[in-house]
Amino acid sequence: MEIRRRLPPSVASASKGRKPVPEAPVQASDALPVPIRYTNLLFSALFAASLVFLMRRWREKVRISSPLHVVGLAEIVAIVGLVASLIYLLSFFGIAFVQSIVSSNDEEDDFLLTDSAEPSATPAPTPSPAPAPCSLLCSASALEKIPDLIADDEEIVSSVVAGKVPSYVLESKLGDCRRAAGIRREALRRTTGRGLEGLPLDGFDYASILGQCCELPIGYVQLPVGIAGPLLLNGRQYHVPMATTEGCLVASTNRGCKAILESGGATAIVLRDGMTRAPAVRLPLAKRAAELKAFLENPNNFEMISLVFNKSSRFAKFQGIKCALAGRNLYMRFSCSTGDAMGMNMVSKGVQNVLDYLLTDFPDMEVIGISGNYCSDKKPAAVNWIEGRGKSVVCEAIIKEEVVKKTLKINVPALVELNVIKNLAGSAVAGSLGGFNAHASNIVSAVFIATGQDPAQNIESSHCITMMEAVNDGKDLHVSVTMPSIEVGTVGGGTQLASQAACLDLLGVKGANLDTPGANARLLATIVAGAVLAGELSLLSALAAGQLVKSHMKYNRSNKDFNKVAP
Ligand code: ADP
Repeated sequence: MEIRRRLPPSVASASKGRKPVPEAPVQASDALPVPIRYTNLLFSALFAASLVFLMRRWREKVRISSPLHVVGLAEIVAIVGLVASLIYLLSFFGIAFVQSIVSSNDEEDDFLLTDSAEPSATPAPTPSPAPAPCSLLCSASALEKIPDLIADDEEIVSSVVAGKVPSYVLESKLGDCRRAAGIRREALRRTTGRGLEGLPLDGFDYASILGQCCELPIGYVQLPVGIAGPLLLNGRQYHVPMATTEGCLVASTNRGCKAILESGGATAIVLRDGMTRAPAVRLPLAKRAAELKAFLENPNNFEMISLVFNKSSRFAKFQGIKCALAGRNLYMRFSCSTGDAMGMNMVSKGVQNVLDYLLTDFPDMEVIGISGNYCSDKKPAAVNWIEGRGKSVVCEAIIKEEVVKKTLKINVPALVELNVIKNLAGSAVAGSLGGFNAHASNIVSAVFIATGQDPAQNIESSHCITMMEAVNDGKDLHVSVTMPSIEVGTVGGGTQLASQAACLDLLGVKGANLDTPGANARLLATIVAGAVLAGELSLLSALAAGQLVKSHMKYNRSNKDFNKVAP
């Protein structure tokens, strides 16, 4: 899924054991003792009645030449009614109007501000989360058709199995996410005849994922998290959490970190920071599409487009547009910085603002889709490899000759040669797109899963070219990884979940960076690149020394008799 959804405020506040997410803003109408639709009706009727009555009286007085300022009791009552209803209508509609303008800007920015980076506040995992009421995940009309679930669990399970109650309404109808997951799971067990014994149900805060991370939950998959490091990067040490089931991976990355540490550390630089989204629009003729392209790329229009784009979030900062044509179809690749968020929601909102704005000058523009794949999200694409997406990072280290020999158990010329023949020539022969490396995606995926990133973005985030050269008279090794599209965030999505937030906290990048928005996400991108550097060093060394199969047999193959374990 390319666009993340926001946790409904009512659910967020109900979730225990987590930091509260701000409630829905207080509306002026909240002060009323009766529902606003009744008072609206009452005061509108009062306004109309008073106005009509006074107009009639006024016309009558003009007709009989009676002085206008002499008023009777009925007229006084009508005037009071008119003024009162006028005040009401102005206050509520006026305030609501002003409020809607203000909150359209604040809506996004308020989110998560309370969940900002507090360096040592590691959230405790919630072993047995208290049942939390859940809000609607399905349409109101769908819910209306279903009677309130007050029956006991057995009855509800039977209704789900029989198809009388859709499984997706359980959270909203029961108001208890753990119970809903349990009932859904039992219904599934009965339908499929599969026990699901190995898939745990308890020990997870189901309210924390509602409307944000996963629908129709029935449990959670456990993944081991290993630690590689310390990784000495830009003068600071990081212990890198890696969630993986691939034996050898953490051990190998750990060895690479050791080699970097023994050689004085690595340096990482963020070259570019901008998330992209490229809607596809169609115009009647290619000529018109070309005109729109010229309009968008005209530097004189930059300021206006920025103004329109940036209005939905104070973190979204428009950077530019790159256009491509396919006949009369135009693909506009918008780019913006997104603070500490990975940024897909943010960039999409900004793009929607600009599309709405463009329709005034280009009414013949037909929006085909807010994402036209020229972005390009979660697909291998040259545009990301060449232009970058998310954070573009280069990371380098000079590994000393003795470290290459002692820790990596290889020599510099062998490493340089293997890198050329495998990572450069071999990948060229394979027609690789951004895959000029040994196993960047191994490290990227493991760190992504541990820190709550979107694992599907591993595709472009793993684009990497690894370079190795002999330096210092051929004695030492200069190694670098250049990664143009690392897509990471420290707020939003899965980064809020307790385990993932703990891993971010371990790296010192949990939540929003209040002093420099975006600094946490950029730091995380450099750590990812640093860990990839370590992984490349170690795997290439193992390959060059012919150790790969041996070490995999040691770490990756258990001695268990699988016939005994398998059902
Ligand atoms: P994404 O755009 O990555 O999908 P979300 O929209 O889910 O991210 O979450 C980002 C939210 O976090 C926005 O509502 C934004 O206003 C809020 N936020 C708070 N602090 C920051 C920050 N420092 N950087 C980016 N977003 C922030």
